[in-house]
Amino acid sequence: MQNFSSFKSLLDVPARIVITTHVKPDADALGSSLGLSSFLKKLGHEVHVITPSDYPDFLSWMHGNKDVIIYSEKTRSQIQNIISEAQIIFCLDFSSLNRIKQLGELIHASDARKVLIDHHLDPDDFAEFKFWSNEAAATAELVYELMIDLGMKHLIDPKIADSLYAGIMTDTGSFKHSNTTQNIHRIVAELIELGADISKVAALIYDTNSIDRIKFLGYALSELLVVLPEYHTAYMAISSTDLKRFNSKTGDTEGLVNFALSIEGIKLAVVIIDRGELIKMSFRSVGDFSVNDFARNHFEGGGHRNAAGGKSLDNLESTVKKFKNLLPDYKDELSTKKEVNV
Ligand code: 5GP
Ligand code: MN
Repeated sequence: MQNFSSFKSLLDVPARIVITTHVKPDADALGSSLGLSSFLKKLGHEVHVITPSDYPDFLSWMHGNKDVIIYSEKTRSQIQNIISEAQIIFCLDFSSLNRIKQLGELIHASDARKVLIDHHLDPDDFAEFKFWSNEAAATAELVYELMIDLGMKHLIDPKIADSLYAGIMTDTGSFKHSNTTQNIHRIVAELIELGADISKVAALIYDTNSIDRIKFLGYALSELLVVLPEYHTAYMAISSTDLKRFNSKTGDTEGLVNFALSIEGIKLAVVIIDRGELIKMSFRSVGDFSVNDFARNHFEGGGHRNAAGGKSLDNLESTVKKFKNLLPDYKDELSTKKEVNV
């Protein structure tokens, strides 16, 4: 950050602070937000974490979860007041205000000082202070580095360390993705020194599945998975009836796309879900094929080179058709052999 000293002095006096993150927060979004919130509270600030939507139950163990304000018609006016009084707004793990729905408009209109902490590609230019790097594996990595740069490592307690570790663990695919650097392993070593309980965090996130979720996974893999060998592509299209049948809850479809990507030879995996108000898509790739570009160019989305999301306002069938019709244009890119070291 170029203007780090002025950012630092901003935190010298107690301020009213809002931290927000993207729709359907994942472990990195919520873990960074709650970790940063606890840290800023220790510095004497008044902090509210506001999310644009609900999030999975498997994140509710995070310290500070009970004070998170989730945007809804019921909380709208309370959130409006908090944002209008905020002096500093932190935007974590997203890079464009239009990703956070109505909250984005409120933040755009606010004259609070804005801080972006993020690792997604192609960030919009709405923040005065930016901690941004697309080389960071997780926003939690950047939040940790910020705490260190501020010279406040001693304020990181085991609860903060757990939340930050959760973001790093999930955004690296449990240290499997190509974003898993030496730096991230060093940071994790430090988080463990600071008290992070890594097996507890892994169990709370990965081993708290409902029976419905596991049965849904089995159904999706056996009935919905389609493999297109010609394009080294696999996808699943999930209808709202499928979701209802398995009492699907927020977070139940998270990770599904990775099963499609794990098939030998597959370079592009997509999960297409009918969420009612829109069709939501999750893209994953290996190697050079950029799902950030693909999602950005065709499905109003974006993200990272190998993990991105998008949406469509067509119905499920038309969205699947549109997706399949695009594949011939990418045949050359998709047909090269899957690299092992990606
Ligand atoms: P997921 O497939 O897990 O929902 O998202 C994969 C990655 O893409 C995450 O980093 C997520 O923040 C990002 N992402 C998901 N949906 C969208 C979207 O609609 N727009 C943009 N710009 N990024 C998205
Ligand atoms: Mn992230």
